[in-house]
Amino acid sequence: MAKLDRYLARRDFEKTNEPRHPGAATGLALRYAMQKHAATRTHFDLRLEWEGVLLSWAVTKGPSFDPAEKRLAVRTEDHPLTYLDFEGVIPEGYGAGRVMLWDIGHWQPLEDVDKALARGSLKFALHGRRNTGSWTLVRMKGARKGDAKRENWLLIKHEDEAAHGPDPTARWSVSVATGRDFDEIGQDAPARPFGPERRKARPRFRKPQLATLTGGGPEADTAR
Ligand code: MN
Repeated sequence: MAKLDRYLARRDFEKTNEPRHPGAATGLALRYAMQKHAATRTHFDLRLEWEGVLLSWAVTKGPSFDPAEKRLAVRTEDHPLTYLDFEGVIPEGYGAGRVMLWDIGHWQPLEDVDKALARGSLKFALHGRRNTGSWTLVRMKGARKGDAKRENWLLIKHEDEAAHGPDPTARWSVSVATGRDFDEIGQDAPARPFGPERRKARPRFRKPQLATLTGGGPEADTAR
């Protein structure tokens, strides 16, 4: 079974604007993203670039910076690399709902990935805008029994300098890329111009007054 067969089989590309074609690895650093997905239940999709696809887990409650808080992460089908910065609305059908690009950056495996995935325990570091530090994904015992499509893993923060920070899912409620909230994504509103943290928008430079441009007004001497 090719890596993306399952991904492709579950989507009707006549209806969804999700990416269709697999990409290819282009960089030395492995890319990472986390998408907040307002589907039937809102969850956070962890995506880790590996061998030309995005390994994917749906983290039901989102990441926690508290090492004592183990978060359920349901392994989902590999996604194409081009999904990495997807943000938008998935129409009726599989995964229907709004998708917010919640974090973006790179990841770094701290051990042999293929062996770790087979064993069911992967240590890695995240170098995102919001999620940082080292983490472990651990497959729960018995997760493969019954429905093999639904593997339950746990996402656990390690004790490090990035641990115990403010709850990231409460702190950041808008897109890391466009600054939009779910309402704005649903309305296909334009990106907010001054970044993700929704700071009070301030013009970067003072718009020249017409008088200064024409040289006749009182501000002409001070205009730069
Ligand atoms: Mn999802």
